[in-house]
Amino acid sequence: MIGSWRVSALSLAAALTLALPANAAGPMPPPAYQAMARDTLKELVEINSVHANGSTGAAEAVARRALAAGFAPADVHVVAPADHPTKGNVVIRLHGKGLGKPLLLIGHLDVVEANPRDWPTDPFKLVEKDGYYYGRGTEDMKGDDALVLTALIRMKKEGFVPDRDIIAAFTADEEGGGDADGVQWLFAAHRDLVDAGLALNTDGDGPVWKNAVPYYVGVETSEKVYATYELEVTNRGGHSSLPRADNAIYQLTTGLQKLAAYRFPMHLTDTTRSYFRELGGLQKGPLGADMQALAGASPEGSAEKLGGDPVINALLRTTCVTTMLRAGEGESALPSRAHATVQCRLIPGETTGQTKAALEAVIGDPAIKVSLDEPVDQAPETLLTPDVLARYHRLVDQFWPHLPVIPDMTPGASDSVYARLAGVPSYVSGAILFDIDDSRAHGRDERVNIAAFDQGGEYAYRMIKVFSAR
Ligand SMILES: [Zn+2]
Repeated sequence: MIGSWRVSALSLAAALTLALPANAAGPMPPPAYQAMARDTLKELVEINSVHANGSTGAAEAVARRALAAGFAPADVHVVAPADHPTKGNVVIRLHGKGLGKPLLLIGHLDVVEANPRDWPTDPFKLVEKDGYYYGRGTEDMKGDDALVLTALIRMKKEGFVPDRDIIAAFTADEEGGGDADGVQWLFAAHRDLVDAGLALNTDGDGPVWKNAVPYYVGVETSEKVYATYELEVTNRGGHSSLPRADNAIYQLTTGLQKLAAYRFPMHLTDTTRSYFRELGGLQKGPLGADMQALAGASPEGSAEKLGGDPVINALLRTTCVTTMLRAGEGESALPSRAHATVQCRLIPGETTGQTKAALEAVIGDPAIKVSLDEPVDQAPETLLTPDVLARYHRLVDQFWPHLPVIPDMTPGASDSVYARLAGVPSYVSGAILFDIDDSRAHGRDERVNIAAFDQGGEYAYRMIKVFSAR
């Protein structure tokens, strides 16, 4: 869930919540399916699917459960790239009436590393404590995987025939750096298995609570564009006993200092304007007023006030930051080469060429060569259409009547980009209500609230029904 992010910087106070807020109670799944979801979560957490191990073991476990529940072998496919056999994916299909292109559900099976020395519990054991399940992947995102799989099994057992096919793809390598990203690979190599009219990705966002009250439901419609640039200075070098004014390291770092002081121009999009307007309406006091002003005709003053918050700043503009430096050949040699990696996240609609030109202008030294690391695919935004928004409200109102549904743009990235690039609109919104001020995805002591997880089973089930209906 690089793509998932939380406005924790806006938090007023972290609520210690051991159970669901009293007014967050809603419909629950039948006990047998609550138990099935818990068993599934336990099995998935205890299969260590970090990058080095891959996700084939977890994919096979998901497939075994689907087959045992009555899915035909022809509707359960475990597939992996030939050159990455450990990066397995599983695709399950529940056949519908054919009244429209299929609904695709995507969720990744891999997790980021967890060092057992940093955790009070074993990160690869599901541990129940104080109303939470602890373990790597409980939040990101084996919890949602377990709920989507259980919902599909429940539909199968209930004999439910949706209007359109429902496809669930549980995939590899979302976290790992992308050499075998499952969603990207499935669209390239097995389009027939995953072709759909709409893809729902439960890897982030979704219903949140704040200060023990249900707060809103986030739906990610777009993400910033990931682009990496290399900056390089070369020099004839020489002996360190005879320093000169020209020096590759000083020249490069002088340029980097200018970049450090630079802020890209503010660039709001339809999504970020709606986000600031609606979230600002929920915030009390001056912060809310400033957020709403960001969506208005003259946002500059509020942008100045709020831009110091890294989360808000990332939503307001393209950002570029130096993340790596390499320079010099030996302690007694003047450096003949100095090299920096600059990582940028572009506001959708801006091009990598524009950003390269901006970097060159800011650095102001033609001897610092700027090059784009590799070409970037720019996925279009999937704006919330009135139909989709109405479906989310129909779903959410069954749990928390009139809770706002707010679109957002993630400064990070998610697998939805690959669906969007393949021409399949995609939204990111999870099924499990969580405390917006206490996200632990990728962190230590990752956990999921048990009551929220149980209820999330019903939410996932109804979400799939609402979105597969014609
Ligand atoms: Zn994730």
